[in-house]
Amino acid sequence: MKKNLDWENIGFAYRPTDSRFVSMYTDGKWDEGAMIADPNVTISESSGVFQYAQTCFEGMKAYTTEDGHTVIFRPDLNAERMMTSCERLCLPVYPKEKFVDAVVRTVRANLDWVPPYGSGASLYIRPFMIGYSPVLGVSAAKDAMFRVFVSPVGPYFKGGIRPLKLKVSEYDRAAPRGTGDVKAGLNYAMSLHAIEQAHHESYDENMYLDSATRTKVEETGGANFLFVTRDGTVVTPKSPTILPSITRRSLMVVAKDYLGLKCEEREVPFAELPEMAECGLCGTAAVISPVGSVVDGDRTYTFDTSADNMGPTVRKLYETLTGIQMGRIPAPEGWICRVD
Ligand SMILES: *Cc1c(COP(=O)(O)O)cnc(C)c1O
Repeated sequence: MKKNLDWENIGFAYRPTDSRFVSMYTDGKWDEGAMIADPNVTISESSGVFQYAQTCFEGMKAYTTEDGHTVIFRPDLNAERMMTSCERLCLPVYPKEKFVDAVVRTVRANLDWVPPYGSGASLYIRPFMIGYSPVLGVSAAKDAMFRVFVSPVGPYFKGGIRPLKLKVSEYDRAAPRGTGDVKAGLNYAMSLHAIEQAHHESYDENMYLDSATRTKVEETGGANFLFVTRDGTVVTPKSPTILPSITRRSLMVVAKDYLGLKCEEREVPFAELPEMAECGLCGTAAVISPVGSVVDGDRTYTFDTSADNMGPTVRKLYETLTGIQMGRIPAPEGWICRVD
């Protein structure tokens, strides 16, 4: 029986569900893992995660399709990305097939929490890993915990899609050869001050520039940029310090193969902003959030949001990808993972 929640109004907040998957890495190997009921973790005060922020995570969603199945979008890519994150943070890699299996098991065990088709809500899936055992000197924890929990979340834009207002941040997100390309909690810890400040100044998000030269567009705290030029080319910034968004990579395939648009993944100089007709932010949370303006000091750059609060091309991209996710449009091979 589906939970009786006010799906449209549940917001984006943690809501513990019936069960979660847990697997422990001890003596150099992963155990089989199990579904458990307890949402709490009891752990040494000196664990790697507490002392040196040794943790990484993933984020994806399960949806109900038009024909009533529960599906997950491309979990194999989340599995691969987490392997990269673990390697960079000296955490033990959790194997790809086991990752997908753990995610599917967790969603299956919480099917009552998957919001119904058409509600705009979805089941957010949060796999993560922590350095579990105690450390004092700076070193990687010997033991780790991999865990997957889910939480139902409402539509990202409550009360309808609205163009976002961004500011160019005076802070940097990722150093050259740093950890910008992995999904590490530490990348978010140091972005909290910048986002609070932006919110305080009534901006929705920060646009980060490359830290080396501060001349190129990188990403926001948690979403990749996608631009559409005046001649209709879809452009996304290429940089080794950007987190490779699965949504953005999927949207580029949609732009090329479904919409027949010219696509470029390349460096995007900030000086090119006046040439961009449309702008969007790509990520699991909202698929694409339209950007209405970017403010840099006393200059404001504005973008087309004439197609019902989105740029016309951004809207086509949004509708095609959400159509694929909801089963209204045929998906490329391997994109949709059916859970039931
Ligand atoms: C997770 C994340 C994204 C979005 O990635 P998706 O796979 O599309 O959800 C973008 N930027 C950063 C910094 C992220 O952590």
